[in-house]
Amino acid sequence: MKKILITGAAGFLGSHLCDRFIAEGFDVVGMDNLITGDLNNISHLFPLSNFEFHHHDVTKFVHVSGKLDYILHFASPASPIDYLKIPIKTLKVGSLGTLNLLGLAKEKGARILVASTSEVYGDPLVHPQNEEYFGNVNPIGPRGVYDEAKRFMESITMAYHRHHGLDTRIVRIFNTYGSRMRLNDGRVVPAFMGQALRGEDLTVFGDGSQSRSFCYIDDQVEGIYRLLFSDYTDPVNIGNPHETTIKEFAEEIIALTGTKQKVIYKPLPQDDPTQRQPDITKAKEILGWEPKVHRAEGLKIVYDYFKSLSPEELQKKEHRDFSTK
Ligand code: NAD
Ligand code: UDP
Repeated sequence: MKKILITGAAGFLGSHLCDRFIAEGFDVVGMDNLITGDLNNISHLFPLSNFEFHHHDVTKFVHVSGKLDYILHFASPASPIDYLKIPIKTLKVGSLGTLNLLGLAKEKGARILVASTSEVYGDPLVHPQNEEYFGNVNPIGPRGVYDEAKRFMESITMAYHRHHGLDTRIVRIFNTYGSRMRLNDGRVVPAFMGQALRGEDLTVFGDGSQSRSFCYIDDQVEGIYRLLFSDYTDPVNIGNPHETTIKEFAEEIIALTGTKQKVIYKPLPQDDPTQRQPDITKAKEILGWEPKVHRAEGLKIVYDYFKSLSPEELQKKEHRDFSTK
């Protein structure tokens, strides 16, 4: 059986990746320090003999006994609210954490795929964003802690690839949504759905003319899976090119949820990208991948998921106390 280490396993993307690799018959080692993740996302895997969980901070030396065939490095705060609360930890997990996992991959002869982001393009001046674009990032702005950590991650991953011949993959993930997101992690999909569920007005930042392109989790996992098993070592965008403005998106959520609330406007956060849409030509050509789930369909699945949770479960999806970590 092939063995895979997945860091960030208790998070949104990591937990769905654990499910996929378990379903494919892998031995899965999930690793997480639970700073933004939740054990409930993976507790259904605990009884399985081919799943083990290590409660560990990957910025400290990472040890996994025995052989290891693959590593997926997904540990990192991922939402603006999270990484603005824990900026130094965000920088550390992208830099020191990535260094540790590259070292582990080298030691074990494992292939490693690292989770980068569309944030490496910053507030892009090229639209849609293709992988050749170098980006427009403010290194000293509040979002810089995330964007630059991910740019460093890409840089050190390519250095290990070129200098040590390490077998590496880099995925640039564009806004992805699905079940298990935290309702109050600040990302716009759970934010709007949480507001609709609580009967609050929907908070659009700025005038809502900024755009995003949202990818459903199952499509994202499929793209990552195909990239891991491809021979391609340069970064690949995985996302859904179906673009919308945030104002239109709020209207879409109002129609979906039937909420009687309205849109209210709040200040636009600093360096909030004005536009974002992946160019997925590479993913199509190299991986034979493109998203299958239409936004309306994906959003309905996720809203039904949040609605199905009990009030206690919903409250748990709200709560996150960084001060205790
Ligand atoms: P998430 O917050 O749900 O999951 C991240 C997980 O990493 C959490 O479980 C957290 O506890 C864990 N973690 C953080 N620091 C750690 C550390 N030092 N040691 C061990 N574990 C640690 O976020 P997510 O949306 O699942 O994002 C996962 C990865 O995908 C991140 O690397 C993120 O940058 C990347 N990504 C996500 C998106 C998206 O739309 N969801 C977009 C671009 C990139
Ligand atoms: N946003 C918003 N209201 C909210 C949360 C987010 O208008 O309650 C906006 C945010 O300013 C950004 C977009 O929605 O323009 C997507 O935000 P998210 O945090 O989900 O992702 P990112 O900005 O990292 O792409």
